[in-house]
Amino acid sequence: MIGGGLAGLACAVALAESGVKVRLLEKRPHLGGRATSYTLPDGSEVDNCQHVTLGCCTNLADFYRRAGAEGKIRFYDRLYFADREGRRSEIEASMLPPPLHMAPSFVGFGALGLADKAAIGKALLAIAHAGGKPADTEGVTMLDWLHRMRQTPGAIERFWRVVLVSALDEELSRMDARYGIDVFWKAFLGSRGGYRVGIPSVPLGELYEGCRDAIVRKGGEVKLRANVREIRLNENRFTSASLDDGTEIAADACVAAVPHDALLGMLPAAMAQEGGMLAGLQHIRTSPITGVHLWFDRVVMEEPFLALLDHTTQWIFNKSLLYAPANANGNARTTGQYLQLVVSASYDLVPRSRQEIIDLCRREVEEVLPAAREAKLESATVIKEVRATFSPEPGVDQWRLAQKTPVGGLFLAGDWTRTGWPATMEGAVRSGYLAAEETLESFGEPRTFLQADLAFEGLSKFWARRTKASVS
Ligand SMILES: Cc1cc2nc3c(=O)[nH]c(=O)nc-3n(C[C@H](O)[C@H](O)[C@H](O)COP(=O)(O)OP(=O)(O)OC[C@H]3O[C@@H](n4cnc5c(N)ncnc54)[C@H](O)[C@@H]3O)c2cc1C
Repeated sequence: MIGGGLAGLACAVALAESGVKVRLLEKRPHLGGRATSYTLPDGSEVDNCQHVTLGCCTNLADFYRRAGAEGKIRFYDRLYFADREGRRSEIEASMLPPPLHMAPSFVGFGALGLADKAAIGKALLAIAHAGGKPADTEGVTMLDWLHRMRQTPGAIERFWRVVLVSALDEELSRMDARYGIDVFWKAFLGSRGGYRVGIPSVPLGELYEGCRDAIVRKGGEVKLRANVREIRLNENRFTSASLDDGTEIAADACVAAVPHDALLGMLPAAMAQEGGMLAGLQHIRTSPITGVHLWFDRVVMEEPFLALLDHTTQWIFNKSLLYAPANANGNARTTGQYLQLVVSASYDLVPRSRQEIIDLCRREVEEVLPAAREAKLESATVIKEVRATFSPEPGVDQWRLAQKTPVGGLFLAGDWTRTGWPATMEGAVRSGYLAAEETLESFGEPRTFLQADLAFEGLSKFWARRTKASVS
């Protein structure tokens, strides 16, 4: 296994549980890949940006169970929003059957006008009625689809943009409408629990210790600081992986669970030329995410998290509260407070200096959290992930590779491989499970790891079935 991110870990644990002896090679000194945490020079432990899961991420939930980390993810049923004036709105499921379960809190959502809500309601109903697959979306951007659905500027800016840019790490004008529509169908319309936000109550790096144990228990090994330079092939069959330090490791099979650009550097250059297996990878673009970490000298925020409307900052996470023990009844107070801000598709921030970004974010925090105006900012850190995720632009699916390759004994995993999901932890775990299934199949010992999607409920169940029947 090359790569100890979520894709590699999910695959390695699934294989180890099936009795396979896995040797996992990770070039960094820690596991988790992009979804990890590390210690800053001043001793603070920070996530490589806040990572959240949703109720509809069934494979990630299964992975956390296998890794023994299930109890370290806390789910929240209520979503909190703040507009430029600091006015709060909340969204939560009611007892109504899906897709109507969110309707009561949506009707009361203060940040949207009547015309915005009518337009949004119509578009959401069109998605649900089509079982999540409205017609004529191929090659269409989300923004074009929203215009086609006659969405008001308020609806686009204060609703669709707020949810989708952070879910898919891309601007609406560059996002495949099918990915955007899928987010609403799976998270907000299909079932009552799909939208629930799951947030780790510990730094991300603490979620993966169980993976190491699962691998080692079966006689395998986790090797950190092991930088694979080359994947060697002979007559179109995997033979070995060679490390930076000259070590050569042979195995019956290899799963490369590295980002797509890293894979390009490991395999023979001819494979990236026209007609080669990797030729399409150069078309996969990436988009940035910027995380801003602020430590205040006092408590400035009460909610566990807030989504911001009309701001550059998209989310504020109250890390002090999120890390507080579960018995704190949501009211844990400390003398100071640690907040983590997230800006997805942060193209505008990439060229800006760290201090400019901190100043901008501080101003925005003060707008929505008045207590921050009097507070002292004790320290701040900016983490720019310039190539955070692959961009879900129209047509990207044609470049995503399957987990099984034409090379004997070589399999692929990674959020960018063909899963049907965008670049998320769920997508990474799905790819890992699919790669594990393909590997075992090649050994003549087929097994299934991929978990079913959350069951559709209410009217959505009926509409989903009808659409499936008419498609098949
Ligand atoms: C800032 C940020 C915020 C995000 N927020 C969310 C979120 O809230 N929710 C969500 O679901 N997803 C989020 N994501 C996406 C999520 O992190 C990724 O989709 C997922 O972690 C990808 O996992 P992976 O295993 O496919 O790739 P990676 O995590 O990139 O793992 C690949 C691993 O391969 C290793 N590697 C690379 N080259 C070599 C080599 N030569 N030899 C050995 N090892 C090598 C790398 O060090 C790495 O550990 C976010 C991503 C970023 C960057």
